[in-house]
Amino acid sequence: MTSKTLIKGGRIIDPAQGIDQISDLLMVDGLIEEINTSISKPRNAEIFNAEGLIVSPGFIDIHCHLREPGEEYKETIETGTAAAAAGGFTTVCAMPNTQPAMDNQSVVEYVLRKAKETALIRVFPIGAITIGRKGKQLSEMSELADLGVIGFSDDGDPVEDPNIMRQALGYSADLKLPIINHCEVPSLAEGASMNEGWVSNRLGLKGMPASAEEVMVARDISLAELTGGHVHIAHASTRGTIALIESAKATGIKVTCEVTPHHLTLTENAVMGHGKDDFQPLDNNAYDTNAKVNPPLRNKSDVNSMIESLNAGIIDFIATDHAPHSAVDKMTTFQDSSFGISVLETALGSLMTLVDKGQMEVNTLIKKLTSDPATFLGKNIGNLKNGTSGDITIFDPNATWTVDPQNFISKGKNTPLEGALLKGKIKATFFQGIKVY
Ligand SMILES: [Zn+2]
Repeated sequence: MTSKTLIKGGRIIDPAQGIDQISDLLMVDGLIEEINTSISKPRNAEIFNAEGLIVSPGFIDIHCHLREPGEEYKETIETGTAAAAAGGFTTVCAMPNTQPAMDNQSVVEYVLRKAKETALIRVFPIGAITIGRKGKQLSEMSELADLGVIGFSDDGDPVEDPNIMRQALGYSADLKLPIINHCEVPSLAEGASMNEGWVSNRLGLKGMPASAEEVMVARDISLAELTGGHVHIAHASTRGTIALIESAKATGIKVTCEVTPHHLTLTENAVMGHGKDDFQPLDNNAYDTNAKVNPPLRNKSDVNSMIESLNAGIIDFIATDHAPHSAVDKMTTFQDSSFGISVLETALGSLMTLVDKGQMEVNTLIKKLTSDPATFLGKNIGNLKNGTSGDITIFDPNATWTVDPQNFISKGKNTPLEGALLKGKIKATFFQGIKVY
């Protein structure tokens, strides 16, 4: 029996095809069949009324932490992908800092099997660069590539040894897969729990300077040039990082980068508990461990640089760095708290504030969540072309809602946006033609 869904009267935005128009969209048997200004209801079709709503390709997240195997108390593939679907995502890439790490075939096979059994949406694993993510010896990269990992990363930890990074990038060139590095010089960041600046001084917390990130970005760009490999800079957060990437791109070096929703919308002031900038009203106090994240929330100049560079195409796409933690990991002193924010379910609502303030077009925002990450993956997803998978996100750009982490599907309730009023709400997510949210 064929299944049909007709989405009626929505504003369809598909950056891959340059579509932005009020239209109907028909899905048949999990595939996109047709987009047209008026499609009459086929027999037995389910109807979804999308009047006043935006209909876009399902969002793609290149960087999230699903915590399985090993830390299922923080998140599982099942809860993480359900949270992703609630946030409008139909594809997520799972970081390998699990326990054990995804550094060999059996762990990656386990993740793929669990995803097949429990995930609501598509999951692509990312392989570890080094064994145990210890930075000493390369993993079996080509065997992991055979299983379908979309890249390699020791995320959570940087690859400290430049010679290991050189070797990894050499393999990257052969395998045609990116090396995704969490750039942070350990000795410059040691003991630090937030950005180095006036807030860290005021609060008496050790800060990490922008240079901790930039020195390693510069190194990685140099090594990418040397080897011909592709380096992808995870969660870029400083103005200096962007300047390095811009000039490297201009000379043809294979470097790409991503930015998170929080580095586009929050500053270090959030650690101070000060009004969270644009997310009023909030009355959180200083030393909010939910604002502790790595890389840290930076200053206003850095945030402005992120927005400008995303608009200019220097930053390739948005990725969440969804990092769920348990209450125990966060109900500590600021120093002792784990780094990370639960992002999947607030991503759209927080990013839409940029649109609301006129800092970004909604089409650009959708492009950076769909076709641009799809280009990075080299896969035919993130678009609404006829015959592609029926991965669709439908959201109300004007609906407002207050963030209550207790309502999150994610096990991670750790968000600095608790109590914030956001505008932009996911109404439905379809994956392969099936409504998963
Ligand atoms: Zn990271």
